[in-house]
Order: sequence, then C-alpha cells, then structure tokens
Amino acid sequence: MHESDNAALSGDYEVLIIGGGAAGLAAALTLGRLRRKVLLCDDQQPRNQAAAHMYNFPGYDGAAPELWRSQVRKDLQKYPSLSSQTTRVMKIAQTGTGFEAQLASGGRVSAQKVLLAYGMKDRLPDIPNLAELWGDTAVHCPFCHGFEFQDQALALVGDGEMALHLLSMLLGLSADLMLLTQGPSQLTPEQKQKIAAKNIHLVETPIQTLEHTGPKLEAIVFADGKRISRDVLYVQTAFPVHLSAHLGEDLGCKVTDFGWYEVDAFGKTTVEGVYAAGDIAGTHGMSVVNSAAFGSTAGARIAGELLLQKSGF
Ligand SMILES: Cc1cc2nc3c(=O)[nH]c(=O)nc-3n(C[C@H](O)[C@H](O)[C@H](O)COP(=O)(O)OP(=O)(O)OC[C@H]3O[C@@H](n4cnc5c(N)ncnc54)[C@H](O)[C@@H]3O)c2cc1C
Repeated sequence: MHESDNAALSGDYEVLIIGGGAAGLAAALTLGRLRRKVLLCDDQQPRNQAAAHMYNFPGYDGAAPELWRSQVRKDLQKYPSLSSQTTRVMKIAQTGTGFEAQLASGGRVSAQKVLLAYGMKDRLPDIPNLAELWGDTAVHCPFCHGFEFQDQALALVGDGEMALHLLSMLLGLSADLMLLTQGPSQLTPEQKQKIAAKNIHLVETPIQTLEHTGPKLEAIVFADGKRISRDVLYVQTAFPVHLSAHLGEDLGCKVTDFGWYEVDAFGKTTVEGVYAAGDIAGTHGMSVVNSAAFGSTAGARIAGELLLQKSGF
C-alpha cells in the first residue's frame, strides 16, 4: 500500500473506501489481494478511540484497538495496488461513469465504486463527567466491556424495551444492578414489577453528576441530592444512530429507521455502485469483529463485480 502524504491527490481508482476502521481496513485487504486499484481515505477517529482495550475480538482480546489497526495497516503494505491517505472525504457525487470525491487534503479523485465505512458517533446523554469516563467505566456494550466488571455495582442509563434487553444481559455479569431512567420511566407497572423481582433498583430522578477518581466511577449523584456508589455506568445506545458522515445520503442511499444504511447481505446499498460496511451497515457491524467480517464480505463482492465486468463473462 502506498501511503501518500498531505499532497492534493488526483487520479482514477476502481474503488474508493471512505473510512479506515475495522470495516474499511478489512475491505482494503480483500480488494488488495485481487489487485484492485483502491484508495482508502481515513481521518482516524474510530468509534472506540476512547477505549484503552478492545475485547471480544479473537486473537486480540484485551489488546489496544490501535494495535490491531496498525497491524492491519502493516499487512496492507504487501499490496501495491492499494493507496491510502489520512484525510476526510468532504463531498461525493455521481458522474456518468462512477463517482467523484473531494478530499479535505485538497485532492479530487474518481472511482468506479464506493465503499462507505465511516462508522458512527455515540450521542451521549448530557451528564456531567460522562465524557471523561467514556470507554473506561462508562460504556455501552456488555460484550465489549463486561466480563472485567463481573459482580461489581452496575447501573444502566436507559429506558423501555431496549433497557430490559440490556438488563437481561447485565444480569449475566452481576446481581447488583440499577436502572436510571432520567425522568418518569416508560416501563409498564408489570415491567417494573419484573425488574423489582430481580432486585434491580429503578431510579427515575435525573442524574446531577458523576463522581470519579481519574477513569474510575465512584458514585452517582442525583438531582434530589442522593449519592449512590457505583463502579460502572452502562449507557443505552441512542437511536437513530448518528453516522460520522452523510455522504451516503448525498448519493441517495436509503437510511433505515435505526439510522444506518439499508444494505443487502453483501453490503450493497440502494444506490448502484455504492456499498456500506461496519457500524453504518447496522447489525452487520456494531463490533470490531463483525465490522471487519462485513468489510471483507463487501470487499469481495466489489472485487467480484469489477472483475466480472472486466472479463466480459
Ligand atoms: C467506547 C467504545 C468501546 C468499544 N469497545 C469495543 C470492544 O471492546 N470490542 C468491540 O468489538 N467493539 C467495541 N466497540 C465498537 C467498535 O468501536 C465499533 O463496532 C467498530 O469500531 C466499528 O468499525 P467501523 O469500521 O464500522 O467504524 P470505525 O471503527 O468507527 O471507523 C470509521 C473510520 O472512518 C473515519 N471517517 C469518518 N468519516 C470519514 C470521512 N468523511 N472521510 C474519511 N474518513 C472518515 C473515522 O475517522 C474512522 O477512522 C466500542 C465502541 C465504543 C464507543
């Protein structure tokens, strides 16, 4: 892979990959192995950048997320048809033969196919000190960060059916659970009874602040002055999710009610020549291993389509 500096790039590529997290890197590897001419643009703000450890990724369980990404970038050096630049894709438009993109580095490139792999941004509730703890003792996913917190004092900020779903998973980790709804709960009296039967304490009073020592949560202070010691705060993901860019929408790709792009089993969006992988492809992402797997699937599909077209078969 040729890594270009900040120079304004120009040129024609077969594939433009927008985003170099798990999905984009895996797709580049797959495309490079069939010698497709690819440009990977990434502005290096992956969703898990706040976390020191990445879990539930076979072979890298507990490693620093950047360790895995840098190893993949090293692997990509073997493939001469790949190019990359650390830059943001600012704009993209369809042309008669494919797509033209404008890069923050000043470049303008064209490509026959585009893979959107730009991930999402977590929209955190407005709770003082939450951002400081995010990725350490304030997290969103029990599979990513859970086993390490087993039998500790856990709380979940959330409500409704989604909160019940998350609480059922958290019960696999600890019996000391609280549900914090930040106002009157949407749960039915029957649902409230069910969680009370599991000794899950429901607090409807809004959180005033989080007390912490460095990255360690110590206690939650509520608007009525009550202070409750807790080790970990889980935060329910807000839907619709907030994508890191809206280039797909600019191209006309359909977005689902969850906020991610509608794709088929191979990452094809509703616009010909445009693919999506990783967290922005919804349930095909939402973790590093799933995003990498789906990036690889989309990469293979794109390579297959390009080569079929080229061969004339
Ligand atoms: C705090 C936290 C901890 C997590 N821990 C884990 C864990 O332990 N295990 C796990 O499996 N999952 C974990 N996740 C989830 C995981 O981070 C995501 O599922 C995964 O990163 C999705 O990969 P992706 O390639 O879709 O997107 P990302 O990894 O977010 O990568 C997208 C890339 O695209 C770039 N980009 C965005 N817009 C543009 C643009 N316009 N032009 C160029 N580049 C652009 C971004 O800067 C970024 O580098 C965690 C998430 C959070 C929030």
